[in-house]
Amino acid sequence: MHIVAFDLIGIGVGPANLSLAALLTTARERGLTTLSSIFLERNPEIFWHTEQMFPGTLMQTEFYRDLVTPVDPTNRFSFLNYLRRSGRLDQFFCSSTIYPTRVEFQAYFNWVAKQIPDGDANFVTAPGRNACILNAIDGKEVYGIDDQDRLVALR
Ligand SMILES: Cc1cc2nc3c(=O)[nH]c(=O)nc-3n(C[C@H](O)[C@H](O)[C@H](O)COP(=O)(O)OP(=O)(O)OC[C@H]3O[C@@H](n4cnc5c(N)ncnc54)[C@H](O)[C@@H]3O)c2cc1C
Repeated sequence: MHIVAFDLIGIGVGPANLSLAALLTTARERGLTTLSSIFLERNPEIFWHTEQMFPGTLMQTEFYRDLVTPVDPTNRFSFLNYLRRSGRLDQFFCSSTIYPTRVEFQAYFNWVAKQIPDGDANFVTAPGRNACILNAIDGKEVYGIDDQDRLVALR
């Protein structure tokens, strides 16, 4: 049996935890932290208010209020870098708005998540001590909370 313990566990990957995961990833890349982390999302990808995702609907916040720029303007997980990598930077600059579409921002969230280890994990929750015990859907991996309140993966 192989057991993995993490310093930090993020339950759910919405914009808040995705921002934390992105900032932690770049902090690790820059040698600023050795903190280990895992972020567990019950959905197969990030669905950001999908039921209200009408075509052409714009964000209420400017593009620079993305997952990382307010904290770290040089971060590679910025919305502008997403646009550049997707070949849509010129199109956005010519759109005469600083408000991205909500569809585009959800795609940006998933672009970030796919580059983060465990960011696209697919998990369900079940009641248990310490808020939750998580079990992988395929049944091959089981996550739980150990007696020191750390998440452990049993494989
Ligand atoms: C219609 C609408 C428009 C908005 N527009 C804007 C905007 O333009 N700009 C802006 O800045 N904000 C906007 N907001 C606010 C913003 O969307 C929310 O503040 C933001 O989604 C909150 O992020 P979060 O990560 O805290 O939570 P959520 O977005 O709710 O994400 C939580 C995630 O955790 C997962 N999850 C929850 N529990 C578990 C569990 N036990 N196990 C595994 N996974 C779990 C969920 O599946 C979900 O993916 C808008 C909100 C709404 C409703």
